[in-house]
Amino acid sequence: MHAISPVQSGIRLVGFDADDTLWRSEDYFAAAQSEFERIVGAYVDLDDARARQRLLAIERGNLALFGYGVKGMALSMIEAAVEITAQRIGAAELHRIVGIAKDMLRHPVEVLPGVREAVEAVAAEHDIVLITKGDLFHQEAKVRQSGLADLFGRIEIVSEKDASTYHRVLDEFDLPASRFCMVGNSLRSDIAPVLRLGAWAVHVPYHLTWEHEREAEIDPAMRARMREVDGLHGLPAAIRDLDAQAAGDAARAAAG
Ligand SMILES: [Mg+2]
Repeated sequence: MHAISPVQSGIRLVGFDADDTLWRSEDYFAAAQSEFERIVGAYVDLDDARARQRLLAIERGNLALFGYGVKGMALSMIEAAVEITAQRIGAAELHRIVGIAKDMLRHPVEVLPGVREAVEAVAAEHDIVLITKGDLFHQEAKVRQSGLADLFGRIEIVSEKDASTYHRVLDEFDLPASRFCMVGNSLRSDIAPVLRLGAWAVHVPYHLTWEHEREAEIDPAMRARMREVDGLHGLPAAIRDLDAQAAGDAARAAAG
C-alpha cells in the first residue's frame, strides 16, 4: 500500500538561452562595431566624438522601437553615423553599414563546443525549452541551422526577456518558478529576472558581452539559487547540484 505519492519537487523544466550560450553571436556584433568605427573614424576623431558611447545610447533608445537583433543594430548604426559626422557621412558608407548587417544575417551558425552533449544530458533528466530574443526571422533561421531544434520540446522566440516574459512561459507550462532553471550568458536577460521570480539559474559567461546585457542587480540573497560554470560541459553537474538544493527546499517547506 503506497498511499504516499512522490513529492513533486526539484527542477522539472530547464530553459536555455541561445545567443552566446548555444552558439556564437556577440563576436559578430563586436566585429560590426569595429567596422562601424573604421567607417565613422574617416570623418571624426572617435574619442573626441565619443562615437562608441553615442552609438550605444542610440541603440538603447531604439530598442523599444526596433527590438533586439541585427536589423535594429544596422538602423541604429546608420542613425549614429549621420549624427556623429554631422550629416557628412556618404551614401557609399551607409551602404557598407547595410552590407555589414547582411553579412551577419548570412553568417553560418557556429554552435559552441560541447553544446549538443550538454543539452542531451540535461534533456535526459528534465524537460527543456529554448528561450531566445531578437529578430524572429533571424532567430528561426539560426535554430534551424544549428541542428539543435530536435532536442527542444518547445522554442520560444520573444521580444524581451524580463520577469513578465518568464512568468508567461511558466504559466504556459503550468509550473511554479521553484521548479524552473534558466541557463544563459546574460545576467540581465537570463539570470536576474528568473532569480527574482524564485527560480534557479546557471550563468555561463561568454568572453564577450554587450554592455547593455551586463547590467543587472542581483541581490546577494538570491545568489544561493544560482551557479556559474565556465562552459556548457559543466552544466549537467551544476543542474544536479541545484536540483538537490531545490528538492531539499521543497522537503523543508513540506515539513513546515
Ligand atoms: Mg545570450
